[in-house]
Amino acid sequence: MASRTINGRTVDIGAAYFTAQPGTPFHGVVMDWVERGLVRRWTDTLAVAEADGIHDSTTGPVRYAAPGGLRGLVVDLARGIDVEQAITVRHVAPGVADGEHYDAVVLAMPDPQARRLLDGRPPLDAVLDTVWSPSIAVVLEWETRNWDPFRAAFVNNAPEVLTFADDGDRRGDNAAVIVAHTTEQSAREHLDDPDAAIAPTSVAVQRLLGLADAPTRTFAHRWTFARPTTQHPEPFYWGDGIGVCGDAWGERSSVGTAWASGDALGGAIAVALHRG
Ligand SMILES: Cc1cc2nc3c(=O)[nH]c(=O)nc-3n(C[C@H](O)[C@H](O)[C@H](O)COP(=O)(O)OP(=O)(O)OC[C@H]3O[C@@H](n4cnc5c(N)ncnc54)[C@H](O)[C@@H]3O)c2cc1C
Repeated sequence: MASRTINGRTVDIGAAYFTAQPGTPFHGVVMDWVERGLVRRWTDTLAVAEADGIHDSTTGPVRYAAPGGLRGLVVDLARGIDVEQAITVRHVAPGVADGEHYDAVVLAMPDPQARRLLDGRPPLDAVLDTVWSPSIAVVLEWETRNWDPFRAAFVNNAPEVLTFADDGDRRGDNAAVIVAHTTEQSAREHLDDPDAAIAPTSVAVQRLLGLADAPTRTFAHRWTFARPTTQHPEPFYWGDGIGVCGDAWGERSSVGTAWASGDALGGAIAVALHRG
């Protein structure tokens, strides 16, 4: 849920949107966000494109978006909690992070990032075995909106682009900004130099939308661990004072899965600490 200020405007460069299954605790959180204007019901219909353009659409659950950017929702969840930011943790052991003692240490991040902090610590090191694929987010900005409404599109059989979304439409300010996420193949080709993904991605989005003009401003962001290709069936890991949670813990990688995983782990830690 990453929002970056690019040329003075907030752009969502991670998750494109999220869903919430009615009846779940996460749905309750989302309805509260909707009531407070932090979240809007965006659409239930997305475009389906082939390599040469958009030919179809698919209808599914409501996709929610955030007018102020998805990052603001994480800030809202963290309200009232003492959070220290911009610190890279280097080493974690039971009840210890970078030499400081804590009641519990939680690694809420992709498995490959969590493993780096554990120095091969069994049994957890072996548990964190999910494999993640990369993507590069490419932000494309034009002076004016010059495309037919499409919300967001899944792309089949294009070598460069997996999905792309209308950021002005989902955020509600109608800015002429599209965010594309590259295929795994294109991301691997450009992992060392994400900016090199801008040109082929831009050409692909222009082709898909039938746009003659190139964007006037662009930006690229590398997601080395964008999506897990396998899932842990359990909702989280907890043992020996270390917890692990995130979107790879549960049925399907998504914002809702990450929230449910963290919520369940938080509950388990609260019970464990209360007993202790
Ligand atoms: C390109 C992309 C598109 C996506 N599209 C969608 C979508 O459309 N819908 C949807 O539902 N989901 C989508 N997702 C998935 C969604 O974003 C994730 O499920 C969700 O953000 C996971 O949240 P998390 O808190 O578990 O982990 P993350 O959001 O990965 O957060 C982990 C945090 O840990 C921090 N961290 C890692 N290592 C360290 C360290 N050593 N020290 C300190 N901090 C550290 C990272 O900086 C990061 O802030 C997408 C993800 C990506 C990358």
